[in-house]
Order: sequence, then structure tokens, then C-alpha cells
Amino acid sequence: MKIIETLEKLGEIQGGSLVPTMGALHEGHASLIRAGAASDRPVLVTLFVNPTQFAPNEDFAKYPRTLDADLKIAEAAGASAVFVPSIEAIYPGGLANAASLAAQFSLPPIATAPRLEDAVRPTHFGGVCLVVSRLFDLCQPSLAYFGEKDFQQLRVITQMVEENSNRWKSLKIIPCATIREPDGLAMSSRNRYLDPSQRIAALGISRALQSVAHCSNVANGEALMRKILDQHGLETQYAVIRSEKTLCAPESGVKSARALIAAKLGAIRLIDNAIVGISTPNG
Ligand code: AMP
Repeated sequence: MKIIETLEKLGEIQGGSLVPTMGALHEGHASLIRAGAASDRPVLVTLFVNPTQFAPNEDFAKYPRTLDADLKIAEAAGASAVFVPSIEAIYPGGLANAASLAAQFSLPPIATAPRLEDAVRPTHFGGVCLVVSRLFDLCQPSLAYFGEKDFQQLRVITQMVEENSNRWKSLKIIPCATIREPDGLAMSSRNRYLDPSQRIAALGISRALQSVAHCSNVANGEALMRKILDQHGLETQYAVIRSEKTLCAPESGVKSARALIAAKLGAIRLIDNAIVGISTPNG
């Protein structure tokens, strides 16, 4: 596995499968890398903690950085190369300029309409789209793998690529299922910060999602999720059932939707989501 730190060396592995990450790799990231390797193209994993997607009050400085372990996980999962760029390589005009580019980024509707991550983290998707579009330009992948764990992000990037089909010709976004701990907690780089009692409380999130796996009334389902989150001592930011397509209210008559939760345990913020089967009460 090659380790690439400069833009010049990137040219050697264009046209392959791209797995963008912020490092602190776990089994969820490994599943994306394995999916990329199964495509029989070279897999490039990027490890870059992107400052422009963190607001000043968020955990950029404290975000876990575990390069040695990341390299081992990436190689074992089948990565051909790992790109570990400096901030200057990604943002040659400097961070202040990058922050203003992120703030002006022309976002697809799904990055602003749902009032989910976009409402809680208003500057987040500008930074995500800026860095991902830069990585697409630099790496020119044929396939790019993103986790359903960050469902709104997956939909934002998919819509951004659809809206820019001239810029990234024939690039396909591949969604990958959320990988969970055996007890149901979605794997996340931030789980390592949970103390033992918070680790138990965090199970309220997957339990709340499971409670609406089948649902006949959206408002009742959302109320049930909130109740379960409360019972576990989680501070709910949102617990909603939305259209899978728009992430706004589900269209009437749809048979499936998406439950999405963001909740906090102290300073630790966790997100998760799952599919919801919608049935009419007598149907
Ligand atoms: P991150 O490094 O957290 O920005 O995540 C990099 C990629 O890994 C994103 O596409 C995430 O959606 C994906 N990812 C993170 N956690 C999981 C998980 N538990 N299962 C599947 N994919 C994940």
C-alpha cells in the first residue's frame, strides 16, 4: 500500500475507487474500503480531518488522530494507497479563504431544506461539499464510497454529483450500509469518548430506531423515539421520520421512509438512522 502525501503523486492512481475519511478508522470505514476493493479498481483512502466542516465550537482540535492504526486498517481492508494531505495541499489559498469558499458553496437543496444536520450545524455541509469536491477533482475517481451512517451527507454528495455531471463525468456514488457494534450502536470515531455509563445510554439511539422499524403513524413514531431517547438520558436534537428521497416530510402513501436521530450525551454528539416500513393501520 502506497502512502501519498503530495498532490504530484496522486496522478498515479486516478480513475479508481475513492473512500474519503477523516481517519480514526474503524470497521465501518473498513467495510467501505472492502466494498471498493471488490470493484477490482485500485482503492484510494483519504485521511484528512477537514477543518472547514467543523464550526468554531465543535471538536476539530479534539477529533481523534490515529494515523499508525489507520494505515494498518486501510491496508488490511484492501486499500491500494492512502492519501494523507496537509491542510495546505487541500486548501492552497489558506484556511481563511477556504472558510469563505465553504460559506459560499452552492449547496444542493437536500443540504438546506430538511432542517436536520443543516439546522444543527449550519456551516457543516459547505465544508463537506468543499472538501469532497476538491478530492473528486484531485483524485478523479470512477466510484466513491460513502456510508449510510451519515445519511444526509450521503444524499447531499449524491445530489451534488448529479448536479455537476459535467465536472465529474461518469463518477458514481456508492452507498454502504451502516456497520454496528454487536449490541446495535452504530460505529463512530466518536464512540471512543463515551464513558461506560454513556456507552450504555447510547444504546437508546439504536433502540429508538428499532422501535419504528414498522410504523403506521409518523407523529406517533417520532414521539415514541423521543420517549426512548429521554428514558436513556439522551438529549435529543432531532428524532424524525422523513422521506428517503427529500429528507422532508414523507409523501403520502409511501411504503418506506427513514428515521433519523441526532442526540447528545454530555459533549458527545451521535447520529444514526434506519429504514422505516410504513403501513396504514388497516393495511
Ligand atoms: P468519517 O471519517 O466519520 O467522516 O467517515 C468517513 C466515511 O465512513 C463516511 O462516508 C461515513 O458515512 C462512513 N462511516 C462512518 N461510520 C460508519 C459506519 N458505522 N458504517 C458505515 N460507514 C460509516
